[in-house]
Amino acid sequence: MHASAHHGAVSPPLLRLFTGDAPIQKPSGPVNTDAKMVFANESEGGDFEGKLKFTLEQKGLVSQFSRWLVDRLVKREMRILMLGLDNSGKTSILYRLKLGQPKRTVPTIGFNVETLEYKNIAFTVWDVGGQEKLRALWHHYFASAQALIFVVDSSDRARLTEAASELHRLIKEEELHNSLLLVLANKQDLPNACNAAEISQLMKLYPPHISRSCYIQSCCATSGDGLHEGLDWLSSNMPDDRDK
Ligand code: GDP
Repeated sequence: MHASAHHGAVSPPLLRLFTGDAPIQKPSGPVNTDAKMVFANESEGGDFEGKLKFTLEQKGLVSQFSRWLVDRLVKREMRILMLGLDNSGKTSILYRLKLGQPKRTVPTIGFNVETLEYKNIAFTVWDVGGQEKLRALWHHYFASAQALIFVVDSSDRARLTEAASELHRLIKEEELHNSLLLVLANKQDLPNACNAAEISQLMKLYPPHISRSCYIQSCCATSGDGLHEGLDWLSSNMPDDRDK
């Protein structure tokens, strides 16, 4: 049943192509934070000649090592935009990450901004309101974002189509072309929650609908499960200025 779910963070050269033909599965338990999927665009996951692949993997190992070293020596900053429909759990995630404790929230009006320190990276996160009338304002925050976290209420199956169309609209925006995309499949503690494979299927989060590196992380804002795994993926895939 886990044929399409990969565990743990995977570095870009080793990313597997998620073909999107995995069967839809029912959540296996009340909290499902271990079903994660990684895919990359076809140029990253396509066929390589053995030799070329070997060279690329070696190069990947060297760059992973230098990244590991830099992560430990230098404090870096990452600007992250967190979006999603209203009630998906953005504010709860932000405050859970910030304070380590869930916070009772009212739907976000305007936006919340917090800076979180995690593994030598200062994440500046904008949690922009998801209510329909506020969505027109989202693009004001696009320009400086290195990553987009899109939060989904995994238990609200009725609104998944709406969430999908907002997400697909967003990733077409020019300013977000190079941003990393982390989809947080939140509210995994609720009994009817879709797991990561279902979210991927129902929201069409696979090529050719999405042609960038994307990570789907199941999480639960109230317990905090899965949130640090999501940040880990962002920090280890953060664009390195020295690569340019
Ligand atoms: P926002 O509008 O996206 O900022 O969503 P909020 O963070 O305000 O959350 C909306 C509602 O969902 C609140 O009542 C939260 O307590 C609740 N909520 C958020 N995350 C979770 C979760 O992981 N599990 C459950 N059961 N409820 C959650």
